[in-house]
Amino acid sequence: MGTANNRKSIFITGAASGMGRESARLFRQKGWFVGAYDVNAEGLRALEAELGADNCVVRRLDVTDKADYERAIAEFGACTGGKMDILYNNAGIGVGGYFDELPFEDILRVVGVNFIGVLNGIHSAIGLLKATPGSLCFTTSSSSATYGMPGIAVYSATKHAVKGLTEALSIEFRRYGVRAADVLPGLIDTAILPPGTAERAPKEGMFRLIPPIEVAKVVWEAYHSDKLHWYVPSEIAELDKAAGNTPELVREQISSTMTFADEVASEKK
Ligand code: NAD
Repeated sequence: MGTANNRKSIFITGAASGMGRESARLFRQKGWFVGAYDVNAEGLRALEAELGADNCVVRRLDVTDKADYERAIAEFGACTGGKMDILYNNAGIGVGGYFDELPFEDILRVVGVNFIGVLNGIHSAIGLLKATPGSLCFTTSSSSATYGMPGIAVYSATKHAVKGLTEALSIEFRRYGVRAADVLPGLIDTAILPPGTAERAPKEGMFRLIPPIEVAKVVWEAYHSDKLHWYVPSEIAELDKAAGNTPELVREQISSTMTFADEVASEKK
């Protein structure tokens, strides 16, 4: 385990894979001290070897466990002299299928990781963020927070919740000088995608497959900006606008592409 030694620091959940891992690598390259947290201990060990033990603190953390989240934050603070420049709540899971056909436990699991996990993180870390001038509370939302998405209804609802929470906290936390922002990624090439999704992805348009480093770059940009919502790719912003202005039209457009949801649902059977 390293110590920050006056370097800036970022606390990342879901750091063993995908966009969390790419963010850990990018911030390390930029000279930051990285806290990497995940339930995937093996992935964390590989990341630690890559980052160098002096440049990071790596620890198993299930974001749904508030008491352990608080311990992880306290340990991180001990490494950074009580500072945290970015809290990056990124851990997430997806469960596909029609809402009424999913076991209720699966539904609660998605809410637990994707939303309660974010509440746990922000509530536990706000003390360190407040103690750090210019700090940023950043979270991974989703393009599915533009309009409720069939086939991933609860996942989509948790990402709407993240987006709404971010908006509210971006105002509440002004009294501490802490910023809040989120990213709404489209289709990113990571392990979370159901098998075959990458192969079926359109070659162009806002739902083309994008490498996770593009999200990591946005986390970096967000720290140096006051922008609230980041879209990857930027065209997702158009979907967000359309969903706000003409939700009935967007409903019909999404309904006409329901084969994707049908495929996801049939994979679960
Ligand atoms: P990923 O599966 O590669 O990474 C997610 C990581 O979260 C994994 O390492 C996993 O072990 C970890 N995790 C899962 N449950 C956890 C828990 N309870 N506690 C701690 N860690 C946990 O997928 P990714 O695409 O990099 O996902 C990162 C975020 O991006 C997620 O919030 C996801 O919902 C969101 N997202 C992904 C896409 C996409 O197309 N890949 C699009 C929009 C949003």
